[in-house]
Amino acid sequence: MKAQDLILKHAPMSIQNIAISLYNNNLYRERHAGVYKKMMEYYKRCPTISPDEVREEQQRKLADFLHHATENSAWYAPYKGRRLEEFPILEKSDILQNLEKIATIKEDQAIIFCTGGTTGSSMKVLYTPADIQERFAIIDTFRATYGYTLGKKTAWFSGKNITQERDLARGTLYRDDHINKIRFFSTFHIAPRNFEAYWKAFTDYAPEYIIGIPSCIVDLCKMALDRGLHFHGHVKAFFATAETIHAGHREVIRKALDCPLIDQYSSSEGAPYILECPHGSLHIHPLSGIFEVVDENMQPAREGEILVTSFTTYGTPLIRYRIGDRIKLAADDFRCSCGSCFPVAEYIDGRATEFVVSVDGVRIFIGNICNSTKGVQGIQCFQISQHSREEILVKMVCSNKFDIFQELKFKEALRQRLGPDMIINLSRVSEIPREKSGKFRVIKNSIAI
Ligand SMILES: [Zn+2]
Repeated sequence: MKAQDLILKHAPMSIQNIAISLYNNNLYRERHAGVYKKMMEYYKRCPTISPDEVREEQQRKLADFLHHATENSAWYAPYKGRRLEEFPILEKSDILQNLEKIATIKEDQAIIFCTGGTTGSSMKVLYTPADIQERFAIIDTFRATYGYTLGKKTAWFSGKNITQERDLARGTLYRDDHINKIRFFSTFHIAPRNFEAYWKAFTDYAPEYIIGIPSCIVDLCKMALDRGLHFHGHVKAFFATAETIHAGHREVIRKALDCPLIDQYSSSEGAPYILECPHGSLHIHPLSGIFEVVDENMQPAREGEILVTSFTTYGTPLIRYRIGDRIKLAADDFRCSCGSCFPVAEYIDGRATEFVVSVDGVRIFIGNICNSTKGVQGIQCFQISQHSREEILVKMVCSNKFDIFQELKFKEALRQRLGPDMIINLSRVSEIPREKSGKFRVIKNSIAI
């Protein structure tokens, strides 16, 4: 067991809070070192540059990035001197099976990110420290336009399970980072029976900003509204992560918290960014990378799947990476009233409607479900079908690394999320077909709630 897990399991809450504060502080120190300051200045200047300068700068960054990839990655070496359109499409399965060949650095030089990837497989990518510092410079510049800086009182709802069984009885479903003023809430227990504890911890804390998975906070807000409760503090902005937002989300957040819900698109494997401006447009950030929108024949289109090339993935170059999401571009003559010349996406088709319903009626969203493959070896992809509240079928495509121990680990992770009463049937299959749209669905749910 890792030191972190030991502390979470056995230490008193005050010690856990100190441990979390120190852990976080180290994380921030790493992110804010190196090129971070220079990149902050660079991205702060972006809104003032002209469309021609943006195009030129994007081409310069692209050329640098492709040169680096073809010089340093064995996977991309055959494409030296080629134009972007001539590069092969990179599939998730390529990263899963050929990371060593694709990556330009070794694990001991890298910042390693593991994700419960959106196709249901656990994916690992290697970042250089400069990749991470540039990514945080982009995010921090973006959040600063809404007044946010590190150290402002923030409630954070992430997919990390930070609580233990005993916290349920005590109602302590959060941990505090006192150094950076962040209260981390568990998102795994948002259910009517725990509502009072969550609401008290949230309202007592009175955050200025919220960061996290929108569907989790929406569920909490719905419960508050059902009870006729409103939050009397003042939240300046709620930055959504991990899921795309739909109109219903915004409505509930406005009613319960009276704050704007700000959308952002990226991914932990390093996709470039789409960021919502204060005028409500989703601006593609052309200096973070390139979004190609393609139809089902992989031809350029206005609406369809995206292939992303990301300038902040020098460690594991993503070039024409088929990330599995779809967008629709706004009309060419659309000009956002914020004045930015960055192109606009009309919508991002996320996975917002994908969830499993637990036996007692709680919706467990895809972000949390996908996390259950974290640290489990040998699952290439999985799909959950649910036709009743009591039972799910999990189809899995597995390699020979998936043995009985991995199976137990995976089942336990699912059980933690779905509750002890859910019947979980695992079934190995050789293939899981995609939808007609080309999208892979992790959850197919035929029960209404
Ligand atoms: Zn705008």
